[in-house]
Order: sequence, then C-alpha cells, then structure tokens
Amino acid sequence: MALFVMKFGGSSVGDVERMQRVAKRIVEKKLDGHQCVVVVSAMGDTTDDLIDKAKLLNSTPPAREMDMLLTTGEQISVSLLSIAVHQLGHEAVSYTGWQAGFLTDQTHGKARIVDIDPARVKQSLDNGQIVIVAGFQGASDAGEITTLGRGGSDTTAVALAAAIQADVCEIYTDVDGIYSTDPRLVRCARKLNEISYDEMLELAHLGAAVLHPRAVEYAKHNKVCLVVRSSFNHNEGTTVKEEAVMEQGVVVSGIAYDKNVARISIMGVPDEPGVLATVFGKLADASIDVDIIVQSGVQDGTADFSFTTALDDRERALQVIESFRPQVPYHNVSSEVDLIKISIVGAGMVSHPGVAAKMFEVISKLGISIKMVSTSEIKVSCVISNYQLAEVVRALHTAYGLDTVEDVFVGGPQDRR
Ligand code: ASP
Ligand code: MG
Repeated sequence: MALFVMKFGGSSVGDVERMQRVAKRIVEKKLDGHQCVVVVSAMGDTTDDLIDKAKLLNSTPPAREMDMLLTTGEQISVSLLSIAVHQLGHEAVSYTGWQAGFLTDQTHGKARIVDIDPARVKQSLDNGQIVIVAGFQGASDAGEITTLGRGGSDTTAVALAAAIQADVCEIYTDVDGIYSTDPRLVRCARKLNEISYDEMLELAHLGAAVLHPRAVEYAKHNKVCLVVRSSFNHNEGTTVKEEAVMEQGVVVSGIAYDKNVARISIMGVPDEPGVLATVFGKLADASIDVDIIVQSGVQDGTADFSFTTALDDRERALQVIESFRPQVPYHNVSSEVDLIKISIVGAGMVSHPGVAAKMFEVISKLGISIKMVSTSEIKVSCVISNYQLAEVVRALHTAYGLDTVEDVFVGGPQDRR
C-alpha cells in the first residue's frame, strides 16, 4: 500500500463526464490498495470567468474579495468530485484549503504557505476515506481566506504530499508528461521520462506552463517524488527527481518560451556608485520583478541599461522610473512589447562548450536579431521579437537533436495554468 497525492487540473475536471472519469481513476487507485488524497483545480475556465465577471463590476477589484470569489471555483470542484466518488460506492470527504490545514501569510492573490496541519486529512485517511482537497487556497492566521497565485493547485498538491509524507505526488494533466517543448507548437516534441528538479525549475520559471514554479521549488526542497502524467490514459508520465538519467548525447532537455515580457530601457543614467542599487531598489519596493538586466556602454559619465519585466508590470515600472527622476536624473526612458524570451535548458550544458553559440547561430540564420541574453549553468535565454516564435522553437528543437518521429497526442484543451 502506498500513499498517493493525485492532483487534477482544471481541464481534467472541465465537465461532468470528465469529473466522472476522474472519480473512476481515483477509485481505481483505491481498489489497487492505495490511500488517496486528491487535489483539484476549478473546473475548466472557471477561474478566468470569475475574474472577468469581477472586472466587469470593478476594474481594480479588492484583493481580499477576489480571493473570496476565486476560492469558490475549487470548492465547487471538490464537492462535485466527492459526490461523484460516492456515486461509485466509495467514501470520500472534501475539504477547503483551510479545513485541510493550509495556513498562509496575508498576501491576497499570491499568498505563501506558512504551515500545514494535516490532522484532519490524516484522520480521514485513517477512516478509510478518499480525501479531496481544494487546490490553490488557504487561510491566514487572522482567518482570512487566501489564494496561492494562478496555477497554485500544483503547489497545494506538492506541499500536502510533503506534509503527509506521501510516497508519490502525481500531477494529472492533458498531456502525457513533460515535453522537450510545447507539443502544441512542435508536433514531434519528445516526452521526457525523467527530468531533474533544477531543470524543471528553470523550465517552469521560463514559461513551461505544465507545472507551477513554486510547486517545483517545494518538491525540490522536500524531495517529493513528482510524476506528471495524463488523466486521459495510463501512459507512464515524467518523473521529476533529484538527478535524472540523461539520454546519450542530449545536452538540452527542454526549450521554453515566455510571451509575458516587456523591455524597459533607461538612457543616460549617471555612472556613479549606488545608482543601480537605487533604481532596482525602488522597483523592488514596488514589488516589480525584474528579470534580465543589461548595462550597455558608458559614455560621458552616463550609462544606458535595459531590463525585462512582466507585461503587466510595465506601466507601473514606468511610473516608478518617472518618480525617481528627481533623485536619479536620466535622459529618457522607453519600453518595448511584442517580445518573447526563448530559453534552452539542460543539466548537460555545464560540461559541453558551444551550446549557447549554437543557439545564437540558429536564431541568426533565421535572420532574427537577439536583443538580450542571460545565462546560468543550465540555461541560456534570448529575448527576441515575437513574430517568428514557432519557427525559432522548431529550428532549435531540431538543432539540439530533440525531434522525434511521433506526433504528440494532446488529450484535451490545454490546462490553462
Ligand atoms: N484555479 C486556479 C487557476 O486557474 C488554480 C489552479 O488551477 O491551479 O489559477
Ligand atoms: Mg496547472
């Protein structure tokens, strides 16, 4: 007997038939002699629909009320799923995040888990019940309901798996596992049997939507054995673990892309000590995440630099930059959108020279200029303009020897988060 956490994304429970299929899948696991804790997302596009409704009423809805609203999506899923399991003749019990013991900080909309007290979950397991927990939510110690950020149900699943020392945390989705790149873009993408936490972390941060980055961080930190697999078939899936076995000659494991990029350039900043600290300190104070930073030539005592940020943060970043102009005078500021950050990731890069050079060559052969570059031990990212995305991804996929002959079957509509 093993203890499983099984997480089902929104598309896996998108309608009543799918809900029934998930219920059967859980019961199957139970009949195999295992204990099951299930984490579910809101059905289909529920979360997006609720956000749209709120925005019709108020373009800047209060964060607390948004959490109140969005958590209902998961509450619908868990109760319906439990009802479906009962119909199959098995005992199930559904819990909200706070009933399952998720204590978070107060940050509405992107709360962090502070502690988990899984006493009720364990008690129900001991009673032989299937436990179904609402993903993406918790409560602060002031008793306020919070959410963990879009895509946060993955984090719920992994954190719960760590808290109850589950043997495996399975993330069920609409594709067979983690692919070398987005199979919707490259039909001959390859499914990876294994991938390391570090590679997965990079890929998740760099735009591969299949797993939430914080969930991977949690898994790495707590050494949770994570398996990503399809809810539409019984294929084996991808295991995310400490060290993955690398296929012979494969240096790059995955290619990710992120459309959520804006570039901001500040020209003619005084070239003095402390200026960069002030600029990025102010941006950090405004909770604006800055990604790639490039400083270009220093001339006449002034420097130019650019950085990238999320599209949503662009306006605010420009306001912050305007606000410190009296303290840090500069010539001008500009911003650019319609960009894409494309990244190659692979643990094998460390020991193979020329991996980045190949990426630059492939991109330049397509006649595309690279605007920014950033690297780490296991990744290289390039910012380019957006309009040839599919072509670039395909060319890189081929260049790094990742193409397979098969066509990937994509089971259903994409898990949105
Ligand atoms: N329903 C939430 C979202 O769409 C959480 C999740 O699906 O993981 O972001
Ligand atoms: Mg997801």
